[in-house]
Amino acid sequence: MIDRRKFLTKATLGTVAVGTLYSCVDNGIKPHDPRKKESAGETGNNEVRKPVVISTWNHGLPANEEAWKILNGGGAGLDAVEAGVRVAEADPKVSSVGYGGWPDREGKVTLDACIMDHEFNCGSVAFLQNIKHPISVARKVMEKTPHIMLVGEGAKQFALEQGFKEENLLTPDAEKAYREWLRKSEYKPIINVENHDTISMLAIDENGNLSGACTTSGAAWKVHGRVGDSPIIGAGLFLDNEVGSAAATGLGEAVIRTAGSAMVVELMRQGKSPQQACKEIVERIYDIYKNRPDLEYLQIGFIALNKQGEYGAYCLRPGFNYAVCDNDEGNRLIDGEYKMS
Ligand code: ASP
Repeated sequence: MIDRRKFLTKATLGTVAVGTLYSCVDNGIKPHDPRKKESAGETGNNEVRKPVVISTWNHGLPANEEAWKILNGGGAGLDAVEAGVRVAEADPKVSSVGYGGWPDREGKVTLDACIMDHEFNCGSVAFLQNIKHPISVARKVMEKTPHIMLVGEGAKQFALEQGFKEENLLTPDAEKAYREWLRKSEYKPIINVENHDTISMLAIDENGNLSGACTTSGAAWKVHGRVGDSPIIGAGLFLDNEVGSAAATGLGEAVIRTAGSAMVVELMRQGKSPQQACKEIVERIYDIYKNRPDLEYLQIGFIALNKQGEYGAYCLRPGFNYAVCDNDEGNRLIDGEYKMS
């Protein structure tokens, strides 16, 4: 929570992307070279920038570090994105992903995740309880079953069969937050705090292959059984290895309504840069919501990474940030450009 406030304050500095360098030297990532700085990672030429990893929010920084260990050693993007988002899933201080995630209105932590590789292989789990690493279960669904998506009890049963451990994911801090919420029991998510914190990660590896992962405990205080965009291929995550990749965070209902990530990829196919494509879908969502009462608590953010290793992001309101790691500038946090102040 303290971190989020800090980022909100920083976001008020303006809509221009502001890079924040994070320890990269220790990882063997080259230090920042200002001469190479390009707007939102766009090179404007045909050179492919790789590897690159981009992920949502401040917890993207440590997640990128983990992913980079694999990417920098020439490893596969799929392994990198899985390992990266597992960092956020295991962190009890991240109140929106995995262990430590805030529960639904019945006090249950329910998790959604999906993963996708460069050959249209994908796996997903939704409404999964008591399993700390839903992203790894999603990968098992992709690799060990003829299906793409498992939900609820079936997903849990499958996870246990695959050797995952059943554990309590409701931390004392999350339980305390839940008890406080119960006093009013009102579903009106606080922007950038209660409705918004999924970790979505996209990577291009040394071979030029794209991969993506997305994992969340979803909107806090949601109706028991609610599933958001994050485990839905085409909504929370999508990629086409010939074009690019995209992922979302924010109010899942808005992302599902617009097939958000798939649209971003299609806009890139039509020639838009990652940044332009993210902006266009955010503007489309704004048009749909501008006269709706739920605009009040709508926040959404998209990240995108294309086949050339160019990245971009855009969000509806200030407060969204994302982490990018590449050889040019190391691992840094960038404030997302936004539509509404
Ligand atoms: N997209 C997620 C959901 O609606 C929320 C988030 O980004 O935290 O479940």
